[in-house]
Amino acid sequence: MYSRESEDRFARAHQQMIRRDLMGRGITDSVVLGVMDEVRREEFVLDEYQSQAYADGPLPIGMGQTISQPYIVALMTQELQLDPDCEVLEIGTGSGYQTAVLSKLAKKVYTIERIGQLAESAQAVLGRLGVDNVEFYIGDGSCGWPQQRCFDRIIITAAVPKIPLPLIEQLKDGGLLVGPVGYAGVQELVVCEKKNGKITERLICDVRFVKLLGKFSFEQ
Ligand code: SAH
Repeated sequence: MYSRESEDRFARAHQQMIRRDLMGRGITDSVVLGVMDEVRREEFVLDEYQSQAYADGPLPIGMGQTISQPYIVALMTQELQLDPDCEVLEIGTGSGYQTAVLSKLAKKVYTIERIGQLAESAQAVLGRLGVDNVEFYIGDGSCGWPQQRCFDRIIITAAVPKIPLPLIEQLKDGGLLVGPVGYAGVQELVVCEKKNGKITERLICDVRFVKLLGKFSFEQ
């Protein structure tokens, strides 16, 4: 529960974020902009960072991890070209902010987080917000979803040295995968398309993400 005054402050900062940080940088998809407007980032930010909930950057969420910059969340979502029939696999639940955005645009989101405490907290926030089309799994997302299953879209929200093979295998033909590829420090945001079993890659921009630690990614 927030006071009237802080509600107003959040609302102003939220609108400024949409106009300046998203529209001002080329987020043009009106459906994505609508969802970025609908999902309130303050719900996913720790108490001590509430005043920076709409700041133009990532913020700590504990356990050495971060909630992504709103622009990057919007950009990756726009690149995924979601439709309401899509089943999406997300690797790196973190705070659940990106998960919430995806859940409004897809049929179902399957999300994997390595750190149990973060997964549980994200699940609690999404439950409180009434989001009911997300399945959570605690484990190593570099190995893909634990059951055999293929996805229309895959989003990796932590840096990988290369796209983990199990994720390429779990991407449907005709599907898209978005994620940061590179080494600690700076990575390239990559969109992969699978067509007739073959992967083509498109580079979007430089990004900075925490590392994905796992069997098919960086060593733990
Ligand atoms: N999109 C999230 C940010 C996630 S940060 C948000 O906006 O809040 C990246 C997350 O990936 C971290 O929570 C980290 O714990 C998680 N992670 C790292 N390695 C992982 C792995 N192998 N499998 C699943 N999650 C992993």
